[in-house]
Amino acid sequence: MAGKIVVMVGLPGVGKTTVLNEVLKQAGERGIAVKNVNFGDVMFGIATSRGLAKNRDDMRKLRVETQASLQAEAAASISKMAAGTSVIIDTHAIIKTPQGYWPGLPAHIVNALHPNHIAVVEAEPTVIQQRRAKDSDIRERQDDLDLQEIELSMLMNRAASMASAVLCGASVLFVRNEEGKAAEAASKIVPLLS
Ligand code: ATP
Ligand code: AMP
Ligand code: MG
Repeated sequence: MAGKIVVMVGLPGVGKTTVLNEVLKQAGERGIAVKNVNFGDVMFGIATSRGLAKNRDDMRKLRVETQASLQAEAAASISKMAAGTSVIIDTHAIIKTPQGYWPGLPAHIVNALHPNHIAVVEAEPTVIQQRRAKDSDIRERQDDLDLQEIELSMLMNRAASMASAVLCGASVLFVRNEEGKAAEAASKIVPLLS
């Protein structure tokens, strides 16, 4: 069976990477081969090689034109990964930039990645706020702790996810990542990989 491409999206701090690690564990237990790509890692590698960012959370503050070049290069690099197994990509449907909400998966990016499914990881806005605050020593997401802004971002994230799906025919699965239940959230995503 051909491998599936699953894209995971969600607001910064909602728990995508945490849930994805659980997905990898559960897929491994079921003998499902899956490659894991963090889009931000690939973009950050390119950004640091050009002296554009000192940490991964600096990238979304760059001019959109600069981010767009990094985004396109990252997608091209990811699209060259050998096919054959399923791939799960940890990324964002929207990026909140100083120039406004900007799509993480516009037409040319979904055309490079060819996702079969988009998994939208969600949690209560207050929970996202707490998770961002908790990580303040390792991540720089604390500039965005306003609840109304988080609610608006969730709305934009849903709209952008569905818009990206319409461009490529992917399905969109909303997955709640409740406190202490990352494994349960992951169990909803694992079936998308086969
Ligand atoms: P970013 O987009 O910025 O990379 P993310 O969506 O990948 O963020 P994580 O780094 O996975 O988010 O999680 C943010 C914080 O929330 C971490 O401290 C993580 O341990 C915690 N967290 C994630 N999911 C859960 C959960 N189900 N229960 C409790 N804590 C969680
Ligand atoms: P993350 O660790 O998932 O937050 O990724 C780090 C950063 O990479 C994000 O804050 C964005 O600036 C950037 N990034 C990740 N995915 C995309 C994407 N699809 N388009 C544009 N930027 C992205
Ligand atoms: Mg992450």
